[in-house]
Amino acid sequence: MKPSEATAHNVVIIGSGPAGFTAAIYASRANLKPLLFEGLLKGGQPGGQLMLTTEVENYPGFPKGMMGPELMQLFREQAERFGTELVREDVASVDFSSRPFKLVGGEKEYLAKSVIISTGASANWLNIPSEKALQGYGVSACATCDGFFFKGKEVLVVGGGDSALEEAQFLTKFASKVTLVHRREALRASKIMQDRAKKNPKIDFIWNSEVIEIKDPAKKKVTSVMLKNIQTGAVSEKKTDGIFMAIGHTPNSELFKGKLELDPKGYIKIHDGTLTNVPGVFACGDVQDYKYRQAVTAAGSGCMAALDAERFLEAEHA
Ligand code: NAP
Repeated sequence: MKPSEATAHNVVIIGSGPAGFTAAIYASRANLKPLLFEGLLKGGQPGGQLMLTTEVENYPGFPKGMMGPELMQLFREQAERFGTELVREDVASVDFSSRPFKLVGGEKEYLAKSVIISTGASANWLNIPSEKALQGYGVSACATCDGFFFKGKEVLVVGGGDSALEEAQFLTKFASKVTLVHRREALRASKIMQDRAKKNPKIDFIWNSEVIEIKDPAKKKVTSVMLKNIQTGAVSEKKTDGIFMAIGHTPNSELFKGKLELDPKGYIKIHDGTLTNVPGVFACGDVQDYKYRQAVTAAGSGCMAALDAERFLEAEHA
């Protein structure tokens, strides 16, 4: 690796979900010639969480809906059209201690005058048999994205936090019955969410239980789950048409530990829009947002990050 061969890019974007590509569209249209690290499969999910969903029906502008991966392909094409340079590598390390910033991707070092981080978050999964094979076929981690497909059907939600109760509540708009499966007897969620869920006649609870297997991959759909009672060890089968995991998300911020201020859960701390504690480094999308986590909000914050980077570069070179 020869650092002297590297040139300082105006903007380097890390991450290829809706936030990263929107930042790229704006930065490239501002003539900043951004370079965007798309990532490799091993380092996460190029294209972000939409690559894991089937149909996206709540992204404005697509009244007939759009498959998640196709939507991401359109984001990508739009970013490329205005001159974004795409690199199919993970970023292995970053050095924000002096400017220009240094990033290592693949075997090469890159220099950057500004950096936009849009590495997203990953839904936590149970890592049980058939969970992966049935993602998009009845196994989901996003009720807002996929709830609509369960009109009149029965679904399970796994988890006992605010997300689980929010998802359960949301799913009752479509499903005929929602059963929340929690590994303990007490919910972690806020009292108000608990009260609301317990009052909802469509929501049932199964306590002290874990989902240990999802069936039936051979039919390419969810038909039932195997439940294990943690207290008694008893295993039983429960019929269901779908299962929603709400066991938390993990922000993809490992790379920035000790380099940027993170909150106790690992989300990048931002202020005044998309500014991090290091001037010239911006964060957008789910890596800084545990609250909204929607493609459209991620895209919006990607736009903000590009505008913030543009202003930063202008001020630096004024
Ligand atoms: P969370 O609060 O961390 O809750 C995760 C839940 O999943 C917990 O009940 C946990 O069980 C369970 N869980 C974790 N790993 C599991 C596993 N392997 N198997 C089975 N169950 C497992 O996460 P969250 O609900 O996504 O919320 C994250 C943050 O966002 C929280 O601060 C929350 O308040 C906030 N939030 C707020 C709202 C709102 O205010 N409207 C909505 C959503 C989220 P245990 O309880 O046994 O640990």
